[in-house]
Amino acid sequence: MPPGGPPPGGPAGQVPGRPPGGMPPGGAPPPPPPAAPPEEEVVDDATRQAAAGLDDEVLVIDEEPLFHLGRCSYLYGREVIPLPASEAVELGFTGCSWCTPVTALTGAQSADSRG
Ligand SMILES: [Zn+2]
Repeated sequence: MPPGGPPPGGPAGQVPGRPPGGMPPGGAPPPPPPAAPPEEEVVDDATRQAAAGLDDEVLVIDEEPLFHLGRCSYLYGREVIPLPASEAVELGFTGCSWCTPVTALTGAQSADSRG
């Protein structure tokens, strides 16, 4: 390495987009920015109606219009309210685009047979 050369223009420990000014020492780090929330699951009316006849338990979050399956990573660390899928549909909740509960519960697109 010859001395005096310009530094390489790569990200070497520097995170772009971070505002100047250090963090308060000993303070709690700021919470990470929330990931983009899931969107509404896209299903046709027939599939939605099929879900309205199911008693499978789904989970909703207070003040959020989506319902989820228990495996949905969006629910991690959140307080959830369980209710039957039929009730969620009746109340106007929409499936979550991450866990696609309507598709999963009705088997609309997944053709795998459960053993
Ligand atoms: Zn979900």
